[in-house]
Amino acid sequence: MRKVTVLGATGSIGQNTIDLIARAPDDYDVVALTGGANIQQLADDARRLGANLAVTAHEEKLDDLSSALAGSGVEVAAGSRAIAEAAARPADWVMSAIVGSAGLAPGIEALKQGATLALANKETLVCAGSLVLETAKAHNARLLPVDSEHSAVFQALVGEDIDAVERVIITASGGAFRDWPLEDLANATVEQASSHPNWDMGQRITIDSASMFNKALEVIETKEYFSVSPTQIEVVVHPESIVHAMVGYRDGAVIAHLGAPDMRHAIGYALHWPQRRNLPVERLDLTKLGQLNFKSPDLTRYPALKLAWDVMDRGGLAGSVFNAAKERALDHFIARHISFTDMADAVAAVLDRFDASDGLIDAEMTLDNVQKTDHLARQWVDDTVVERAG
Ligand code: NDP
Ligand code: MG
Repeated sequence: MRKVTVLGATGSIGQNTIDLIARAPDDYDVVALTGGANIQQLADDARRLGANLAVTAHEEKLDDLSSALAGSGVEVAAGSRAIAEAAARPADWVMSAIVGSAGLAPGIEALKQGATLALANKETLVCAGSLVLETAKAHNARLLPVDSEHSAVFQALVGEDIDAVERVIITASGGAFRDWPLEDLANATVEQASSHPNWDMGQRITIDSASMFNKALEVIETKEYFSVSPTQIEVVVHPESIVHAMVGYRDGAVIAHLGAPDMRHAIGYALHWPQRRNLPVERLDLTKLGQLNFKSPDLTRYPALKLAWDVMDRGGLAGSVFNAAKERALDHFIARHISFTDMADAVAAVLDRFDASDGLIDAEMTLDNVQKTDHLARQWVDDTVVERAG
């Protein structure tokens, strides 16, 4: 039996992961499940899968979790430290599906105990790429991509020589506002931004898809995971979300990965890798689809996308600053303090402030420094929002 842990088990990726695990319960020994506010879901899944441990991120919810799991024999704990400890428990395979930079420290713990880390949490590589890759190497741990585009690139690289790669092309659906008149974007509501044309995902990544902050994170994730240069990465808008990524080789060949937009593809690939097993996903019928469309992204519509290359040019802790500023700007948008288009402006202003801050640009990449810059960048966004309101 393989020992598995799911971090962020109550979320969209976490639930899809549990769906796959629950289909073959005899194959898995569930070490730990972690969640946040959704105590009932966490308790139900921990009981159903016979998990050893269930952890909520919220300390004040420990009593609720204990009551929900009374008599089950499942151990309970709460708080971010308890989540990191859960990730450190020996397991063969750990799903990293917490949303945001909160996923970084537990992911590092999982790598330190030598687990294979299935990485849905793209923030991990954006905030601390070199630190994470070095930790994996030092502990003989493996990172497998779960973001659909990166899983697709990974699959298109099987058996190939990375030196023969000319370019990596990741696709973007264009999100909720791809066909909106540009002048309406400033008035887009949280509800409108929270509805994705093709994928069913958590609210935050869905809004990030509408702004393309999500694609910006994915571009940086591509650079970190596959060690390609920023100039080798391209983004194309592909409204059908059937082709997830393509790898172009030096002989001109392009290998594309296609599949229905269902995250169980990429999760299942990482779960069963290096094998391929049956997955309960829709099979493609290209004759029914008839045609697939591609166009270049309009950077006036998606200013956040361009910032990815600015961040990669800066290097070091710029990824952490970028991600934290993006997360905080998104908090303010969801709280209706700022408009949809204000988010990219606020993040760009924070990157400028980072440039002007002595010592930060060249600071060493340690977990401590990543967390410090994360905190600072959030504060800078708050300053910008207060300034605007004032
Ligand atoms: P969700 O918002 O659906 O789920 C997030 C999970 O993290 C939940 O279990 C939530 O608990 C938990 N959580 C929230 N805040 C914290 C915290 N501070 N500490 C610990 N746990 C916390 O997100 P998604 O599943 O959509 O996304 C998860 C990650 O995967 C993100 O990094 C996202 O970018 C990435 N990803 C997601 C895709 C998708 O299809 N959804 C596709 C590709 C990547 P609770 O809900 O109980 O409060
Ligand atoms: Mg993706």
